[in-house]
Amino acid sequence: MGGGAAARGEINGVNAGKDATRVSQAPISRAQITQAEVRLQDLHRRIIACRHCSRLVEFREKIGEQKRASYSEWDYWAKPITGFGDLEAQLLIVGLAPAAHGGNRTGRVFSGDASATFLMACLYEAGFANQPNSDHREDGLELFNAYLTAAVRCVPPGDKPTVEEKRDCLPFFVEEMEILPRLTTVLALGHIAFQACLKAMSQRAGTTVRAKFGHGVWHEMPGDLPTLVGSYHPSPRNTNTGRLTKESFLEVLLKLRDELSLGRAGR
Ligand code: SF4
Repeated sequence: MGGGAAARGEINGVNAGKDATRVSQAPISRAQITQAEVRLQDLHRRIIACRHCSRLVEFREKIGEQKRASYSEWDYWAKPITGFGDLEAQLLIVGLAPAAHGGNRTGRVFSGDASATFLMACLYEAGFANQPNSDHREDGLELFNAYLTAAVRCVPPGDKPTVEEKRDCLPFFVEEMEILPRLTTVLALGHIAFQACLKAMSQRAGTTVRAKFGHGVWHEMPGDLPTLVGSYHPSPRNTNTGRLTKESFLEVLLKLRDELSLGRAGR
């Protein structure tokens, strides 16, 4: 299991040229889409090959060798994970990092763990996904008007990347934000992802941008920066304690869906 080719209709985990099921969008030229596809493929190649953080490289590969007993048949991915979803998305959803036996096992961001189960059920209910589950790279998942990514691409011990690791992985996220041709809105899942968004937007704007994290809080950012929205991360730590409920997460997603379809989110 695992380690196979990207699902049909995807380009390195990117759904390209989706149908009319997504919410209404302004026109974008075929040439722009093609250019974005090429740039994203190049970015994905560089991400997957990255071995910059020695601590994280050692950790991700150790997990891939040791495995969890229930996944002993799996050929763990054990490499950095790329983004996944609709290339023409207006909405970019950012998490922290792959989970040890989730994304680090399956090779796809937000798949194969409890956070992914919660997230995808809600994305499906809000109309951003074609199915309520995200299990592995060949499960047929497609996203509509949404693209998923992580602030740090390798699984960190204890889910805690160092300051240097967060800093050194940030350029991939900055580049990804810049490539997505229709991006208007970023949903940050958790405080660390929110901080990464602020840093990435500051780099892009050439000046420091500030905003305060809060669940369901929207921030209109200066210039041509995307709107930034915060949410608690859908980790068991939050969902099992009731800090994040399905209702409170869906409230954010449904508002995003409505605002995007009305063209009011972002520029
Ligand atoms: S965390 Fe990012 S910068 Fe560090 S090794 Fe992984 S992909 Fe490279």
